[in-house]
Amino acid sequence: MRIPPTLSAVLSNLFKKPATNPFPASDPVPTPEGFRGKLNYDVEKCVGCRLCVMVCPAGVIEYVPEVRKVTFWLGRCVFCQQCVDVCPVKALEMSDEFLLATDDKYNDNLRWFKEDEIEELKKKLEEQKKAKGAESQKK
Ligand code: SF4
Ligand code: SF4
Repeated sequence: MRIPPTLSAVLSNLFKKPATNPFPASDPVPTPEGFRGKLNYDVEKCVGCRLCVMVCPAGVIEYVPEVRKVTFWLGRCVFCQQCVDVCPVKALEMSDEFLLATDDKYNDNLRWFKEDEIEELKKKLEEQKKAKGAESQKK
């Protein structure tokens, strides 16, 4: 009988440790430097220049003129990082978060700057405007 040439490799592998990562029983494989995971947005830093809206190839970002900020629905994001590279004030960054599975595509984890936060900011801006108006009348 002819012995298959792979038999010695098979036999030696039988006595080696498995080379798999049994996730989720263990931690996932670490992400490398420069990994492009879920996008993070710093509302405070954003100056509303709209450059990110212009470069995004997937229609993820929408400009909100009343508050001069942007909103994101990350369900469409293709993790290309173009918005991060173009932002002049570094309001955007790619994190190393990649466990994003969900049964709700409009899940809060996939949205940045939600409706209630926009309303809150609108109110804040209106109050600031009123305060400025009252101050200039005093002068
Ligand atoms: S990473 Fe790419 S696809 Fe995702 S929001 Fe930024 S520009 Fe759009
Ligand atoms: S590019 Fe940056 S500063 Fe300009 S709108 Fe987008 S997040 Fe805001």
